[in-house]
Amino acid sequence: MYEHDTIAAIATPAGSGGVAIVRISGERAEPVVRAVFQPDQPWERLHSHHLYLGRVTDPRTDQTLDQALLALMRAPHSYTGEDVAEIQCHGGSFLARRILETVLTHGARLALPGEFTRRAFLNGRLDLSQAEAVLDLIQAKSAGGLRLAWEQVSGRLSEQCGRLCERLLGLTAHLEAFLDFPDEDIPARTQAEIGRDLSELIEAVGRLHASFAQGKVYRDGLRTVIVGKPNVGKSSLLNALTGTDRAIVTPVPGTTRDTLEEAVTVGDIPLVVWDTAGLRASRDEVEQRGIERTRAGIEQAELVLAVFDASRPLDAEDKAVCEYIDGKQVVPILNKIDLPVAITADELEARLRVGPPVAISAQNGTGLEGLTDRITGLVFGLGPAGQKGSARPVEPAENGCGLLVTRLRHRDALIKAEQCLTSACASLRSGLPLDLVAVDLRAALDQIGEITGQVSSEDILDRIFGEFCIGK
Ligand code: GDP
Repeated sequence: MYEHDTIAAIATPAGSGGVAIVRISGERAEPVVRAVFQPDQPWERLHSHHLYLGRVTDPRTDQTLDQALLALMRAPHSYTGEDVAEIQCHGGSFLARRILETVLTHGARLALPGEFTRRAFLNGRLDLSQAEAVLDLIQAKSAGGLRLAWEQVSGRLSEQCGRLCERLLGLTAHLEAFLDFPDEDIPARTQAEIGRDLSELIEAVGRLHASFAQGKVYRDGLRTVIVGKPNVGKSSLLNALTGTDRAIVTPVPGTTRDTLEEAVTVGDIPLVVWDTAGLRASRDEVEQRGIERTRAGIEQAELVLAVFDASRPLDAEDKAVCEYIDGKQVVPILNKIDLPVAITADELEARLRVGPPVAISAQNGTGLEGLTDRITGLVFGLGPAGQKGSARPVEPAENGCGLLVTRLRHRDALIKAEQCLTSACASLRSGLPLDLVAVDLRAALDQIGEITGQVSSEDILDRIFGEFCIGK
């Protein structure tokens, strides 16, 4: 439900910073801000979308709280589509809260999480997929994720959905023309045309939802685990990938007892990497727990970087590692190639059967480009999480529109739309009544409409905007 009251919140993150912003939106945004802000020039001279210097005071005590800047953005040309006022004050968290509290006692109420963006959606400033992408933009973890989020904010997914809906509406209209004359048979040629259009649509929708495998990686990062027996160079590899000393590297086996999580971008691909305790039998209780966590990590991982020490022959512990990771999406890595080599690539390849190992020296950075290429190659042919061999390769360019679907909600709607279209196609081919075909087409339209929010329920909106922070 749209409430027309006036809302306010701190739009900047909690904590101290250079600047904090108190955002106010609604019909009474201007009267509310007039109560607490005294511009250095008369109110009558203040224009929309300009910044003005002034003082924030608490009218109850007349105490000046801060010198600040004010921006008024009058409806409908604002983020929410309503009158918006933003006070940019100094970035003290107590100060910002004090200003917010003063605003709240003068006619605004505290905004709910995501309520500004929800109003933007309800006022038609953004559609639902764009509103979701605002959150992705804020939470982007990599250049690729940022690019996809921006594409979606700027409406590329909405446009693609619009094109699909237009074609579907055209088809439905075509069919309905025959429905109006139930006694006439649909000519075979027209039927073939509709069938062909439907097949094309099914393919387009299918390609779009298949792109989720990649889109999800860009949005959330690929869950990656680094495994290997102790001392093979797992922490060194993590450090080489992050370019930091986040994991402490020591020459004593079994010192990485806890798992570390690190966001790393390899090539263009964001990985959320866990360095883990080495996999080996241990009586040490703490190390044992680390190893159990490693096993759980392998279960959940979408990518396993399996590290082996090239300078030592493959032993029972290495072989056990190979067994743990069987069936996962694995990049085998032969580390320490700067030392005299004691394992051959063939030996490891024969054991793991996931292609030749990538030879690197984590210590001096040799071979990291080869690792990047291998990971990139895997992601571009990635199937469902962590499953090997079920991949339907999807390159962005092959998608027809270069667009990647990044949200499960969108993928699910597209899968349901595809099912409706497939059912429509089957009904048409087996000569079932045309109104059955039309019902399926309408259902497919509704599914695609859910992506952009043309069809939506309060529950869906609550769920989507509940993910946002207060002030956004
Ligand atoms: P982890 O237990 O598998 O995490 O192994 P570490 O990263 O802690 O490394 C164990 C030891 O191997 C340390 O002494 C590292 O300096 C050394 N090491 C790691 N990578 C290399 C490498 O590429 N070449 C050489 N020569 N030593 C390495």
